[in-house]
Amino acid sequence: MRAFLGRDILTVWQQVELKDRLVHYREIFQSKRIPRYKLARLFFVPFDAYKDKDELLKKHEHHHLKFKKWVEENQTVPLEELEKKVYSQYKEEELEKNNYLKLKSVLLNNILSACEYCENECKTNRSEGKVGKCGVNDEAHISSAFIHMGEESPIVPSGTIFFYGCTMECQFCQNWDISHEFNLERFKGRGTSAVQLANMFYSLVKQNARNINFVGGEPTPNLHIIFESLLIAQVNVPMLWNSNMYLTETSMKIISDIFDIWLPDMKYSNNECGNKYSKAPKYWDALKRNMKMIEERGSGEYIIRHLVMPNHTKCCSIPILDWVNEHLKTPLINIMAQYHPDYKVLQTNRFPEISRRVSTNEMHEVKSYADKLGIYWKSVS
Ligand code: SF4
Repeated sequence: MRAFLGRDILTVWQQVELKDRLVHYREIFQSKRIPRYKLARLFFVPFDAYKDKDELLKKHEHHHLKFKKWVEENQTVPLEELEKKVYSQYKEEELEKNNYLKLKSVLLNNILSACEYCENECKTNRSEGKVGKCGVNDEAHISSAFIHMGEESPIVPSGTIFFYGCTMECQFCQNWDISHEFNLERFKGRGTSAVQLANMFYSLVKQNARNINFVGGEPTPNLHIIFESLLIAQVNVPMLWNSNMYLTETSMKIISDIFDIWLPDMKYSNNECGNKYSKAPKYWDALKRNMKMIEERGSGEYIIRHLVMPNHTKCCSIPILDWVNEHLKTPLINIMAQYHPDYKVLQTNRFPEISRRVSTNEMHEVKSYADKLGIYWKSVS
């Protein structure tokens, strides 16, 4: 194992700033804490699955704060001990039907019939197999699942699961073959079930995955299957949400207190660039709200990914750093230089301003500004 891991991976936790920012994440894979999805499964919440979405959401919000307190009190208790305590209070069958994670799963399945998982809010009836703007029907289609060694040092080896489909349409997409230009007809009826997905977690952890990393494309359209799989999963590693964060407030309410660590993209710092380059109206408004929700409602542990784009340091990179510095408590940022023209930017002449790689000067400008603000980025970039 040691020979398999790179130098950064072995030394990364010696950095105090990183250690202090990712306490929850680190202590789960050190077996000192229980992953949040397992805590949610042990948290008794009686509910009527036949109530409508608004009623269920009201119930969910009523229990959110109670769950938050319960997590603080119980996350470091040995799992077996906690299970024993909970099962002495509730019968197993009763808890299976009435727990906080189950409520979330029921809500997500309820929303699927007029889908509003993401800010497109296209209201597609995916329960009937119709295909949303994201290109996804009611099934989850997985392009690959493997141990990823190319993620940020604290994250690897990462048990990464790539889903087809995406809720945004970045004109420079480097994963366009799985995000946009896949042939759904070819896969229809052969989606990955929740049981198969839970088995994938197990197999990835057996191969030394330090976490389960949901990515794509974009994982958001698959929330209903992902949460069903969490209801049966047995692995004791952190769950990682790796996303463009273009989720609705409702979706964020449901998922924010479940994932142990987040890899949120912060691409643009205004709605105009979001709309022009990713066909994502209200991008910046949604992103700001969702980033705050990670801190206020969830584990508050994340590594932001900011892809520096050519001719976008003044309008996007610098204002993102300013906003992060002003509004977030413990930011860690991966400042990424790997932008290259791809997809529509390569196929058309519509975006000459982003038809090149990022220059050394642009990267220097962004990194030195992060240094000036005192934002921590080096060990995760
Ligand atoms: S996830 Fe897909 S179907 Fe649901 S609102 Fe977004 S684009 Fe529409």
